[in-house]
Amino acid sequence: MTVKEIFDTMDYGPAPESAADALAWIVDQGAAFGHFIDGDWTTPRKDFQSKNPANGETLADLTQASQDEINTAVKAARKAQAKWEGLGGHGRAKYLYAIARLLQKHSRLFAVLETLDNGKPIRESRDIDIPLVQRHFYYHAGMAQLMDAELPNAQALGVCGQIIPWNFPLLMLAWKVAPALAMGNTVVLKPAEYTSLTAMAFADICQQAGLPAGVVNIVTGNGAVGEMITTHEDINKVAFTGSTDVGKRIREATAGSGKSLTLELGGKSPYIVFEDADIDSAIEGLVDAIWFNQGQVCCAGSRLLVQEGIAETFYRKLKARMDGLRIGNPLDKCIDVGAIVDPVQLQTITDMVADNTDGETYHAPIDMPVEGCFYPPTLITGLAPSSKLMQEEIFGPVLVSTTFRTPSEAVALANNTRYGLAATLWTENVNLALDIAPKLVAGVVWVNATNLFDAAAGFGGVRESGYGREGGWEGLAAYTKPKGSPKALKLVEAFAGGKGPTDPLDRTPKLYVGGKQARPDGGYSQNIYGKSGALLGQAPIANRKDVRNAVEAAHAAKGWSGTTGHLRAQILYYIAENLSARKDELATRVNLLTGGKTGAAEVEISIRRLFTYAAWADKYDGQAHGVPIRGVALAMKEPVGVIGALCTDDAPLLGLISAMAPAIAMGNRTVLVASEAFPLAATDFYQVLDTSDVPGGVVNILTGSHAELAGPLASHLDVDAVWSFSSTDVSAEIERASAGNLKRTWVNNGLARDWMGAEGEGRTFLQAATEVKNIWVPYGE
Ligand code: NDP
Repeated sequence: MTVKEIFDTMDYGPAPESAADALAWIVDQGAAFGHFIDGDWTTPRKDFQSKNPANGETLADLTQASQDEINTAVKAARKAQAKWEGLGGHGRAKYLYAIARLLQKHSRLFAVLETLDNGKPIRESRDIDIPLVQRHFYYHAGMAQLMDAELPNAQALGVCGQIIPWNFPLLMLAWKVAPALAMGNTVVLKPAEYTSLTAMAFADICQQAGLPAGVVNIVTGNGAVGEMITTHEDINKVAFTGSTDVGKRIREATAGSGKSLTLELGGKSPYIVFEDADIDSAIEGLVDAIWFNQGQVCCAGSRLLVQEGIAETFYRKLKARMDGLRIGNPLDKCIDVGAIVDPVQLQTITDMVADNTDGETYHAPIDMPVEGCFYPPTLITGLAPSSKLMQEEIFGPVLVSTTFRTPSEAVALANNTRYGLAATLWTENVNLALDIAPKLVAGVVWVNATNLFDAAAGFGGVRESGYGREGGWEGLAAYTKPKGSPKALKLVEAFAGGKGPTDPLDRTPKLYVGGKQARPDGGYSQNIYGKSGALLGQAPIANRKDVRNAVEAAHAAKGWSGTTGHLRAQILYYIAENLSARKDELATRVNLLTGGKTGAAEVEISIRRLFTYAAWADKYDGQAHGVPIRGVALAMKEPVGVIGALCTDDAPLLGLISAMAPAIAMGNRTVLVASEAFPLAATDFYQVLDTSDVPGGVVNILTGSHAELAGPLASHLDVDAVWSFSSTDVSAEIERASAGNLKRTWVNNGLARDWMGAEGEGRTFLQAATEVKNIWVPYGE
């Protein structure tokens, strides 16, 4: 071919990366892998194989873990944990740094192995996956180093069970292993059945780094192995990345076990293009949004929303760009789109697209490889928002699209999904960008860019995209717990009555819903007695319909979430002021209810607590992360939404205020279920709320049985989080019922909290009351 001919076609020649070293490494290991347990390899069995999806060739044999092998791995992790934590932050930082260095030294081996095993283009594994893996270990070496000074009250959770998918095999391993180790935990990790090889090579790195035996254990196998890990009794935390269906199953399976859980699940992320966008850049962005990693990306910009005025031009240019994409041998450096991970996944994508009869389907007419798992870049336009393909994750190189007219319509369409992982928006108007970004329901928003990741910026979702963040300071919360050993919770029982005198003045407390007193739907009340048996009053018994009404009222008060911290602070101060005016009356009430003498102290601490959260309302700020791009990632704190809380039984006034105040200070609306044994302090308190300018619906108060109200609250699809501090054992029920919409839960697992002391307030509460949204804003012309 002459130079002139090359200029005429502008065609790329092949630029294949050699697989020789990676294949030699596999052969060196015997082309068969056991598990990496307690610093050593188990004898391999040929239970299943890892294949190259680009050509179907077998790469290595792998071993399906048995229950005994999982037990041995967990035991090894448990044995190693205390000593690993005892090394201290600096001790652990040295190992994490050594791992980062070794990963850098062997970066090409990892990149090629990943491409062989997964089918992703070598350009991506070489330039994105593996550098991000190294960055994650460097960053968390730093976190380990800083832990003692910056997180003095935090300690490791213990043994972490970690289950990762096949789309970013080594990167997901890094996201899980690095923070866990940094905080002093040990791990048992299972890679996905399709893609175990880089995890095996990582085990090799752990040996080279001299990591103490048992700190990292890697077991291979299918979903059954994942299940053995998640249900293992001696695991303290489960971290899972994968499908929403399996995430829900794990939530149910771990309910009530006391295990902490983070879930990074699927998405159907919107990619919004406004008419003033730089169209060519937005199209280039789309290549990275939906054809990066063949669209097998949880946060892929798979749902294109284009403003009507530019739609025709945009689609025309997009199709032209699609026609120029190169698909084929992933080891070729000139390839844009590689192989789908496995024939099963290819079939799923093929079937989903073939079954769709809506809109117009465009398959890019490009030369397809004759063998291997490949699917052409595809665009489906003209879909209704309710079309199946607009709602369901395809997890392949298939972009679906519709148009919008106004910014508010774009937001409504973007948020019309059960997911909330990521969103992308393109506009040259900074005012529009910064107005829209906070309105998108997503854990990450990219402005004029897409699929940017960094260890310093937490990644994770809301709604059915799961909970918890990976990366940043917030990611560490998922691998630590407060220092100290809490005591077991004791059931607080109501006093029996009928023996003492009755207060002749009948005050009739009701429920407090939407800023008004409301009779309970069921029409039942219960007698509340003091210690001596005197009747103190009657408290309404709320049922599931009252829960529904309260949630509805909380939703109607959504304006509260848009108010400023300054305004919320003033209202919290005002509540404190009005409570102070009635402090003697409430202190007496608390004493009568509990039969104790702590009423005055409880009211005094309640007033202080209101002051604390009034103080925090305008100070619990976000951050601007220094991510390694020309730009910033703005970590904004947002309210969770509607929070249901079962309040502690033993401190009837303080417990209610301790749950309410952080929640509303951060802009949430609440449905509070008062102390079951001593509910009348809560019904007195709503009179304080009534005089304190709290908008109706921001605080709703129910009284009744915690066991009966926990289920309806936790299964309600319009509740975003449920907290339980109840002395009735409802943790398991709440966690199980929360799986329906994967709402966040914070339950006591039968452990007590000192409500009068420091444990009763502070950052733990603020963290639970907020979501962190990272808004990436690159800059420069
Ligand atoms: P899964 O959720 O099934 O797999 C993720 C991981 O969980 C794998 O290691 C898997 O093992 C393991 N696993 C499977 N079942 C269980 C279980 N019951 N308990 C514990 N662990 C389990 O995803 P798939 O690989 O099946 O992909 C299916 C769909 O999920 C995709 O089409 C895509 O839509 C979505 N997905 C989303 C991802 C994301 O990042 N959000 C990543 C991957 C998939 P093994 O694979 O070995 O069977």
